Amino acid sequence: MLHPQSTEISFKLNNGVSVPALGLGTASPADRYSETKEAVKAAIKAGYRHIDTAWCYGTEPYIGEALKELFQEGEIKRSDVFITTKVWPVYWDKVSESLDESLERLGIDYVDMFLHHWPLCYPKVEDLVNGISDLSRNPVDSMNNPIYDPKGDWLQTYKDMEKIYLDPSDHRVRSIGVSNYPVEYLQKVLNQCSVKPVVNQIEMHPRLPQLELNKFCHDHDILLTAYSPLGSNGAPNIKIPLVQELSKKYGASANDILISYHIRKGNLVIPRSLNAQRLATNVGFVFLSESDIHDLDNVGKTSPYRYIDEDFAAVVPGFTGRDKVVG
Ligand code: NDP
Repeated sequence: MLHPQSTEISFKLNNGVSVPALGLGTASPADRYSETKEAVKAAIKAGYRHIDTAWCYGTEPYIGEALKELFQEGEIKRSDVFITTKVWPVYWDKVSESLDESLERLGIDYVDMFLHHWPLCYPKVEDLVNGISDLSRNPVDSMNNPIYDPKGDWLQTYKDMEKIYLDPSDHRVRSIGVSNYPVEYLQKVLNQCSVKPVVNQIEMHPRLPQLELNKFCHDHDILLTAYSPLGSNGAPNIKIPLVQELSKKYGASANDILISYHIRKGNLVIPRSLNAQRLATNVGFVFLSESDIHDLDNVGKTSPYRYIDEDFAAVVPGFTGRDKVVG
């Protein structure tokens, strides 16, 4: 049976904007930031039309260089590619400035999706070595404990994003959404704001199927975007025995099974790779059966495992921030 490639599948956001289901993740390791440029070019040549980045990743300038060359070479035009960036908690009260900095680094004048990266507020602490815009990305005290802005209000960040989106004279964002929001935070946004987020970007894979968030978001017409679908660095999820079994059953790569798992559920997925060969070959879509999806969900249903669980997130419900065990 013939199926489209994952790069050819699109979904509609709740504001009518179309989004390619498969996007390229770009949270590259700091010593490999510059390789992001060639990865973006390779991904676009492989058919990707969706790039996920963030103010805090440090990769926006390299994505900008890639886009500039791709536009100049006539490979794509701006409207052919869906670009997401995010506002980091350090800029919780400087949303417009954050967006301008991202646009400048990316060399574009609008993003397709602008996300609130975490429902947290950090103080602005200078870091001239590893910071972004000379600000520490994860400020800590002398005991290395995360610190938060005592005046901070995470909902204010979303309200400021909403103002930009709703201003008819401001064309910098086509849609707004959130990331790392548990159900109770989403409920607060739905109660107190007028623009429904188009997506909630969260860690999601067979070891962390996020069934409660899936139900809540789908009931409210909010798409989920799966981050770290391969299990992040080193792609440990590729070794999950059921993923290997399904890879043999369908004659597809384990990567394609892990990606198709989300697309089959109607969610977006943003794997990262700096490897041009992998980018070119891992775009196959597998029409997994309902029972395969059920079995994949079951892998993490009883003992979910969260790979991205740093100390700073411990104050957000559902994130342990400590021992990497959920529940
Ligand atoms: P992924 O789960 O995408 O895994 C990336 C790792 O998998 C890399 O080490 C990559 O190495 C390797 N890899 C990729 N393809 C294969 C393959 N076919 N076989 C073997 N190894 C492979 O990790 P991320 O944590 O980066 O998540 C993806 C994206 O999600 C991020 O890049 C970012 O855009 C977003 N994200 C968002 C967060 C948020 O808070 N909103 C948090 C974390 C991520 P190689 O380069 O050598 O291929």
